[in-house]
Amino acid sequence: MKAPKFMKLFAQLPSLNQPQRLQVLAALHPAAGLDRVIALIAEIRAPGRRCPDCACERCHRHGQANDLQRFRCCQCGRTFNDLTGTPLARLRHKGKWLDYLTALLDSRTVRSAARQVGVHRNTTFRWRHRFLHWVKYDRPQQLTGIVEADETFLLESQKGSRKLDRKPRKRGGKAALRGLSHHLDCILVARDRSGQTIDAVTGRGALTKSQLNEYLFPKLDPQALLVTDANAAYRAFAREHGIAHHAVNLQAGQRVRASTQGAIHVQNVNAYHRRFKEWLARFHGVASWRLPNYLGWLWALDGGRVTSVEQLLRVAIRFIHR
Ligand SMILES: [Zn+2]
Repeated sequence: MKAPKFMKLFAQLPSLNQPQRLQVLAALHPAAGLDRVIALIAEIRAPGRRCPDCACERCHRHGQANDLQRFRCCQCGRTFNDLTGTPLARLRHKGKWLDYLTALLDSRTVRSAARQVGVHRNTTFRWRHRFLHWVKYDRPQQLTGIVEADETFLLESQKGSRKLDRKPRKRGGKAALRGLSHHLDCILVARDRSGQTIDAVTGRGALTKSQLNEYLFPKLDPQALLVTDANAAYRAFAREHGIAHHAVNLQAGQRVRASTQGAIHVQNVNAYHRRFKEWLARFHGVASWRLPNYLGWLWALDGGRVTSVEQLLRVAIRFIHR
């Protein structure tokens, strides 16, 4: 619209009545959301922007496409935008992303988020896992001091699969086998006393020493004091790496023990398990292979680590500023 025509339109705005004002605001909302998200993406990616193909830092502007500035690499000549190579590349309806991120912060279900944002539920489902893809990797480098570790189990789920490798269960159901069978997914959680937490879906059935080597060892400070229950896998793991280890015998009714380093218990990690399961209940079962995304989602929200849509977008496109 040309400037004089716009001035005329703008001058008429005060004469709108309330329903009309609301209508105008609703019509402008997606556009305002789009402007904000585009500005935010550019702000996040501009420092250290480089070609996703050859990592060259020299590039020049090369037109616009899909609402984003396109760039052309000076070295290899390829074109890219600020979302190329991120899980959000080629997702549509950018004007609604910030509303969707609010729904993620509120832990909304697929249908509730779809209603709130005004897109189809298949879209909010796809968005959930695209936005969480890098969120799940945003983890502490190392756990230090007293580190509690414990595993918890969830009934294995093949939700959404076209082919099941077992008979379907009726109404969620229970594990067909008693005890720690291959019908249960094992989730290992380790948390130090500063609240830094890592987790891993180690697979079906009981936790093994080799899984601890794979998931816990790389994140554990060699000087840490590992506190666990009496599971023999932890004892063998700690002995193999020469890590200080205390076990609390929960089955014998022992919960807390005093030591020179501090209270010996696994109550923080068990409380984390509980929070995860209570929070997860709203989704009425999630597919086993997607569990890492949900663990990452809870870690982002737990203890108010991520509280704004801007922060969440930063993590989703892998720029973590704390
Ligand atoms: Zn390049």
